[in-house]
This record gives sequence, C-alpha cells and structure tokens, in this order.
Amino acid sequence: MADSRRPVGPSTRAVHGPSTDHDGAVSTPIVRSSTFSFPSLEAMKSARDRGPAGAYYQRNGHPTLRGCEERLAALDRAEAAVLLTSGMAAITGVLLANVRAGDHVVAMRQCYGGTLEALEFGAERLGWSFDLVDAREPSSWERAFRKETRLFHTESPTNPTLCVVDLAHAANVAHRHGAMLTVDNTVASPVGQHPLELGADLAMYSATKSIGGHSDLLAGVVTGSAKALEGIWHARHLFGAVPDPATAWLVERSLKTLPLRVERANANALELARRLTADSRVARVYYPGLERHPGREIAERQMSLGFGPMLAVEMKGGSSAAESTIEAFRLIRHAPSLGSVESLASLPAHTSHWLMTSEERSIAGIPEGLIRVSIGIEDVEDLWADFEQALARSLAPAGR
Ligand code: PLP
Repeated sequence: MADSRRPVGPSTRAVHGPSTDHDGAVSTPIVRSSTFSFPSLEAMKSARDRGPAGAYYQRNGHPTLRGCEERLAALDRAEAAVLLTSGMAAITGVLLANVRAGDHVVAMRQCYGGTLEALEFGAERLGWSFDLVDAREPSSWERAFRKETRLFHTESPTNPTLCVVDLAHAANVAHRHGAMLTVDNTVASPVGQHPLELGADLAMYSATKSIGGHSDLLAGVVTGSAKALEGIWHARHLFGAVPDPATAWLVERSLKTLPLRVERANANALELARRLTADSRVARVYYPGLERHPGREIAERQMSLGFGPMLAVEMKGGSSAAESTIEAFRLIRHAPSLGSVESLASLPAHTSHWLMTSEERSIAGIPEGLIRVSIGIEDVEDLWADFEQALARSLAPAGR
C-alpha cells in the first residue's frame, strides 16, 4: 500500500489486501496446478522447508490460497491465517493440533452444536476430556479448569442466543491456568471483532458465513501467530482439508466487500431488533446492540462496525408460534446459515441444536420457541414488512 507507516482503515485493507504483487494482476490469479516444478533440487528443498509459504504440492498450500490467507490475516490484524475446507475443519483442526489423549478442554455450553459434537467425538475416541461452562456465568469458569486443561474454547456472540463473552477476561482465566484461549469469531466476523488483540491465542471462522457472504461456498479459517498456526497447517496437510484454488479465490474476492456487507447487515439487524422488542407477539429479542442486553457494554467495547448480523426472537406462543412465523416469511428465506447477503431464518431446535434434548437446550438457555434470524443487506423497510406480515399470520398470541 502507498504509505506503509500510516495504518489504513478496514475497508481499504479489505479492498487492497497486503502488498502481494501478481505480475500486475489486480485480482489474484487462479492457479489450478496441483503440483509445482523447480529449476533445481535446492529450490525444491527451499520451497518444502518454507512449509505453507512455499507450496510445492497443492495439499501443502498453493498460490491462490496464499493470496487469500494474506488478506484474511491483514483483516483480522493477525500474523497469519490458515484457510480450510469448512468451519468444522477449522474447529477440528484446532482441537487435533492442540489437544492430546489425557488433555482436558473447557468449552462454553452455548458454543455451536458441531463444536460440542467434535468434543464428544474426541472424548469417546481420542482420549481427551472436556467440561462445559455457561457463557452467562463468568464467575463459574475458573472452577472447570484442571492442571491438564490445554484449551478454553469460547464463542462471542454465541449462536443462537447472542451471549456476549468478555474475551479479555476469558484470556486471563485461560492463561492463568496455562491454557490457550480459542475463539469462534464467526458471528462477529474478522472485521467486527479481533479476538487476538483481546488476548486470544487463535481465532476461527466458518468462512461459509460472513466471510464468503453469498451462500455459495464452504470454507473455514484459523488466524493467529505463525507459531500457533503450525499445528493447524500440519493437520490440514495431513487430513487433506485444503480448499481448492477456485474456492480460495472466491473467498478472497468476497473479502473485498466484507466491511461494507457487515456494516450494512449489522445496521439492519439493530434496527429490526429495536422494532421487534415492541411487538406484542414477541416475548424476547436477543441482540447485543439492545440497550437492555446484559452484554451490551462488553459488546460495545470489543466489537466494531455494530453488533453482528444475527438476532433471535423468542415467540410468546412457543414452538408452534415460531414454526408458523418461519413458514409465513416471504422475503426472509428459511435456511440454516448466517452472515449472508440475504436474510435467513431457522429454528435452532430443528437445525443447529437439534441433536440436543429439549432439557439440554433449556440448560444452554435456548427456548423451544426461538427463531434465529441472520439479517442480510436488503432494504430494512422490506425486511420489516416481511416480519410484520409473518407475525400477523403466525399463531402467536398477541398482548403483553
Ligand atoms: N461455527 C459457527 C458459530 C457456526 O455457526 C458454524 C455453522 O453453522 C460453524 C462454526 C461450522 O461451519 P461450517 O458449516 O462452515 O463447517
């Protein structure tokens, strides 16, 4: 970039990326080659020894992937980034690279359902153990740590009930016990929150969500120091979880509009959350930007560009009201994802958390009549009109 001494803003960083030059090409070229040749054995050895930075075979890494990873690292203000084939590949990569048989993990009960399943899988088959803590009760976290605890895994805001975790505090707790803090930052996105600057050792993302942003790709990312990422890169190489050049290119292309999309979706979400709190059929709106949200102050301190694109609505009429509302949406699509340009609604009891019993969902603070809505970049009045007509046609009882 023009003047390397002057820090540029997130939109400029997103558009221009780091100063990688591809022979003048403004858009990173897609290099499809699955293997790379070298003029000498020495050159080949040097590429091999540079690990992910010196790809000689596509599963190690490749030039299109590198361009994307450099831009991702710059956006998250991280030293490095590793792109993987999905958010779950990122999460399992972090676990496999850092947790061994006999080790212990502390994770939040409110984490993404797939993360909890991966922890169960490792406890059953790989010999690690884990305990869950409640994101809403920071004073209880410390008690879950043991001398074997390697990792404290958190998410903020959590999916789907939007609990806000004080990440600097979580980092202190983890580090006091000699554990790493890992943060699933999918909901906030790498331009909406920087966990590494708040003390996290690794941040991870389902790039399928805001990073990709158009519901047309599956990918995952882990960011951190080059040292902390070594094991993840090794796991990616070993398990073959390397995105192909076309996907890596699409992720990088999407990054150029990430701040724009996030800012617009977050502004829409805040406006809709405020309006929904006044609706007589709605029991509660979960959104960290609302004045009465218990995590509002922390969210204001640690998030930027707003409070995230996702909100959740608890219907007074419970699950039947939630089901009839979601079926009545016309513009908002009924689909289980988030962070995309189009607004999407889903019922966590039937999607992200369907493997839990209703009792487990209740312990995690997920009511049966909860609708999760990921707000897109449409015109806010059109989204509001859709909410109004869907609520009017739902089976929800009105009145306070
Ligand atoms: N983390 C969070 C917070 C998610 O919501 C999801 C998917 O919904 C994932 C991780 C998993 O990502 P992917 O579906 O890309 O594997």
